[in-house]
Amino acid sequence: MADYDFDLFVIGAGSGGVRAGRLAAMTGAKVAVAEEYRVGGTCVIRGCVPKKFMVYAAEVTSQLKTAKGYGWTIGEASFDWKRFIHDKDVEIARLSGMYVTNLQKAGAHLLHGRAQIVDAHTVEILPKDGSNDAGTYTAKKILIATGGRPVKPDFPGAEHGFISDEAFHLPKLPKSILIVGGGYIAVEFAGIFNGLGVQTTLLYRGANILRGFDDDVRAHLADELEKRGIKVVLGCSHQRIEKAEDGTLVSTLTNELTFETEAVMFATGRDPYVEGLGLEKAGVKLNERGAIIVDDHSKTNVASIWAVGDVTDRINLTPVAIREGAAFAQTEFYNNPTTFDHECVASAVFSQPPVGSVGMTEAEARHAFGGADIYRSVFRPMKITFYGGQERCLVKLVVNPEDQKVVGVHVVGPDSPEIIQMAAIAVKMGVTKQQWDSTCAVHPTLAEELVTLREKYTPVEVGGIG
Ligand SMILES: Cc1cc2nc3c(=O)[nH]c(=O)nc-3n(C[C@H](O)[C@H](O)[C@H](O)COP(=O)(O)OP(=O)(O)OC[C@H]3O[C@@H](n4cnc5c(N)ncnc54)[C@H](O)[C@@H]3O)c2cc1C
Repeated sequence: MADYDFDLFVIGAGSGGVRAGRLAAMTGAKVAVAEEYRVGGTCVIRGCVPKKFMVYAAEVTSQLKTAKGYGWTIGEASFDWKRFIHDKDVEIARLSGMYVTNLQKAGAHLLHGRAQIVDAHTVEILPKDGSNDAGTYTAKKILIATGGRPVKPDFPGAEHGFISDEAFHLPKLPKSILIVGGGYIAVEFAGIFNGLGVQTTLLYRGANILRGFDDDVRAHLADELEKRGIKVVLGCSHQRIEKAEDGTLVSTLTNELTFETEAVMFATGRDPYVEGLGLEKAGVKLNERGAIIVDDHSKTNVASIWAVGDVTDRINLTPVAIREGAAFAQTEFYNNPTTFDHECVASAVFSQPPVGSVGMTEAEARHAFGGADIYRSVFRPMKITFYGGQERCLVKLVVNPEDQKVVGVHVVGPDSPEIIQMAAIAVKMGVTKQQWDSTCAVHPTLAEELVTLREKYTPVEVGGIG
């Protein structure tokens, strides 16, 4: 039998790689985890976690507004971007340190530097300043967990814009910003900048934001963003960006509209990070999107190589990468064949207001079942009506008309990410509308609207008779 340096070589110390590496090492296996940047990966360093801190910071603006509506008198409030970024970085460093400690406690060997595959059992670590880990290592199994990275569009002047990685380290808050993109990252950053007092425009080339989400959610959220002061521009994209002498960025759009802003941010998608990884040397196959093709056990077409997380472009979320990494470790190191079920994965958009969603959209259900029973309500929650606010929430259930199972739940409103986590359990278990309705409400809450939806909703047909 071949004698390898390691039983497992993990490339990438992000959500999927760390979980798989740690679990495998806990069995006593010899595990190496290579990381070219910082341990923790996108989620901890430049994704979910720092973004959520920014969301918390931005939400204070609406909390101050609410406070005034509830009888508080609050002096002039101000926000210190530099102090916030410093404190955020301290917390991120602490969390990254915890990941390092946990890997080391489990017995994994951390290698600092960029990894390149040499063949089906060999990985090279390229030299990196401050690290002596450069060299060639052999492993019985290789796990690729290199994640994804932001795509920057290519048009004249695009170099003046920045991507989400840079948004976490801007030297100062701009006075105005044009955010390009309609996905959850674009929408979340629009809420962040707007909440922090930046005049914010969201530009998306499609018909509405949040492609892939339920159409009612998309329309409702676009309206709510506008109510909160974000200008939403749809159906066009950039022709060019020019930088004026005073530094102002002048964006000319395909409809000849121009926007002058201090900053432009691109949140125009992420690609699987496979560039320069040497996959061709081992013969690992990619799909048309450039993602690594894997089977249900995250195994590639090469017998000794697996891949998990965003680099496989299945569902690009942290908990999914973690579960895929855990399933790989269970299968390969615990003699416990495990697959992760990608059905009914709940997701949230931490916009303002936030969105929580699980299961099918109305359109998906109509396509799958030839119809759908819809229950929905749009309302002003009591917290907002108290001071005359105009923000509205949306709750919506999508039910399979044949067996009456609740196949989709969609919420736009405060705490919807928390609400949807619980709703996801019921949907995953195959709850029927009758069982759902037999659940007694918790009063007074926003979530109670979900269990008191009795009337079927019939969409008004535009141009219909009657
Ligand atoms: C702005 C933003 C906000 C997000 N918010 C959320 C959210 O709220 N909720 C959620 O669930 N998900 C969110 N995500 C998505 C989430 O971050 C990813 O789905 C998750 O991090 C994927 O984990 P992963 O293990 O596949 O890869 P990653 O976490 O990206 O880790 C990959 C690691 O591999 C390293 N690497 C890459 N190539 C090499 C190489 N050749 N050699 C050595 N190291 C290498 C990278 O430096 C990185 O550390 C967000 C993403 C972004 C960008």
